Amino acid sequence: MADVDALISSAYQQILEVIGSVEPRIADATRQELVDQRASLKLIASENYASPAVLLTMGTWFSDKYAEGTVGHRFYAGCQNVDTVESLAAEHARELFGAPYAYAQPHSGIDANLVAFWSILAHRVEGPWLEKAGAKNVNDLTDEDWETLRHELGNQRLLGMSLDAGGHLTHGFRPNISGKMFHQQQYGTDPATGLLDYDQVAAKAREFKPLILVAGYSAYPRRVDFAKMREIADEVGATLMVDMAHFAGLVAGKVFTGDEDPVPHAHVVTTTTHKSLRGPRGGLVLAQEEFASSVDRGCPMVLGGPLSHMMAAKAVALAEARQDSFRTYAQNIANNAQSLAEGFLKRGATLVTGGTDNHLVLLDVSSFGLTGRQAESALLDAGVVTNRNSVPADPNGAWYTSGIRLGTPALTTRGFGHDEFDTVAQLIVQVLQNTQPGTTKDGAASKASYVLADGVADKVKDASSELLDKHPLYPGLTLD
Ligand code: PLP
Repeated sequence: MADVDALISSAYQQILEVIGSVEPRIADATRQELVDQRASLKLIASENYASPAVLLTMGTWFSDKYAEGTVGHRFYAGCQNVDTVESLAAEHARELFGAPYAYAQPHSGIDANLVAFWSILAHRVEGPWLEKAGAKNVNDLTDEDWETLRHELGNQRLLGMSLDAGGHLTHGFRPNISGKMFHQQQYGTDPATGLLDYDQVAAKAREFKPLILVAGYSAYPRRVDFAKMREIADEVGATLMVDMAHFAGLVAGKVFTGDEDPVPHAHVVTTTTHKSLRGPRGGLVLAQEEFASSVDRGCPMVLGGPLSHMMAAKAVALAEARQDSFRTYAQNIANNAQSLAEGFLKRGATLVTGGTDNHLVLLDVSSFGLTGRQAESALLDAGVVTNRNSVPADPNGAWYTSGIRLGTPALTTRGFGHDEFDTVAQLIVQVLQNTQPGTTKDGAASKASYVLADGVADKVKDASSELLDKHPLYPGLTLD
C-alpha cells in the first residue's frame, strides 16, 4: 500500500502543477479543499470520501467521449471502450444489489429519479395507451394523439414522504418538478413518535390511488419496511419506487437485509453513488425485468450523453463495495450512528424519533434555544461541518429549521469508531450549550445570528484535531 500512496502523492502533485499552469486559482482551491476537509469533522450525512482509485478514474479522457444510446447500440461511432465501462458498472451493480437490471447512466440522484418517473410513465401509461391507439411507438402518433397522451401522462398521481418528515425534494415536493408533473400527496410520520406510520401511508394510498408510491428519504433516522410498502403499493395497484440514495451503502454492505432491503421488494430502485456507497457523484437505477426496457430509454427520454468517466468511476466504486471489507465498513457506519445518538441522549439532547438505526441522526436544536441555522453556523466556527434540516412540522420552516442532520459515513471512512463518535457528540453539545441566539441590527430576535462564547471554538478544534490526526484523510497523500 505504501507504494500506492507514494504513487498517488506524486500523481496529484503533478496533476495540480498541470492545472496550475493554466488556472493557478483552481489548483490553489483544490489544495485548500484537501486542507479544509482534513481539518474538519465532516458530519454531512450525504457526503463521504471516495477512494483514490475512484477519484483518479474520474479524471480521464473518457470525459471526452459522446456515447448516447445503450451498450452496443450507440448513436456515435467509436464507443467500444465506453461499452466496456458501462457494461461493467451495470454488472457490478446487478451483482452487488442482486438486481435483475441496472442502468448506470444517470448523472446524479435527481437524474436517476427523473429516469425512474418517466420509465414508470412509459411502462404503465404510454405503453398501454399506444397499444390502444394501435401505434408501434411514439413516432407513429399524430399531433392529435400527442395531445391526448400528454394529457394522460400529465394526470398521474404520486404519493411520497413529505420533506419535513425526511423525504427528498424529488418525492413530490411542490416546488420540484416531481410536485408539478404529478398530482402529488405526501405522507408523514407519527407526530408522537416521529416514526413512519404505515397505517397512514396505507390509508392515503387507498384514498389517493397513486400510480407511483415513493419510499426512501434524506433525513429520516430509521429503517423502512419495504415489504410493507410493497404490500400497500400492490393493494392499490401502484408501482413501488424506492429512492435509496442515502442508505445504498447499508444495502450494499448487507446491514439492511430481508424486508429492509428495497431491491427485492420495489419495482424500481434509484440511488446516488456518492453518499454511503462511497463512490463518485452519480446515479443508478435498478429495476425488475418488467421495467428494464423503459429504464433503458433514459436517453433520450430525459438524459443526453452519458458521462463515461463517471460510469468508469462507478464501476470502480461498485467493485470496491463488492469486497468483504465494505460489509465491515457498512456495519461500522450503523454502529457509529448508534454511538453518536447515545452520546447525545446521555447528555440530554433531543433526537427526532429518539434515536437512529441507520447512518444518520436528526438533532432537534430547539432544546438549546437555537434554530438549525444558528447551530449549523456555530458548529462550523468550531470546525464541525453539518447541515441544518427541518424536523417534522418545523415551526422555523425549511430555511432556518430547528434541526441539524448528522451522518456517520464520512468519518467512518476515516476510521472513527465508537469512542470517537461519543467524543464528537460531546463536542457538538459543548458548542450548542455555549451558543446564544443573536439579534438583528435593530435589536430584534434573529433566527440567523448567534453568539458563540469566547474560546469554545478553539477548544473544540483542538479536541477534534486530536481525533482527526489519529485518522488522517488520504494518509499517503502529501501536497506541497
Ligand atoms: N434522492 C435522495 C433521497 C437524496 O437525499 C438526494 C440528495 O441529497 C437526491 C436524491 C439527489 O441527489 P443528487 O444531488 O445527486 O441529484
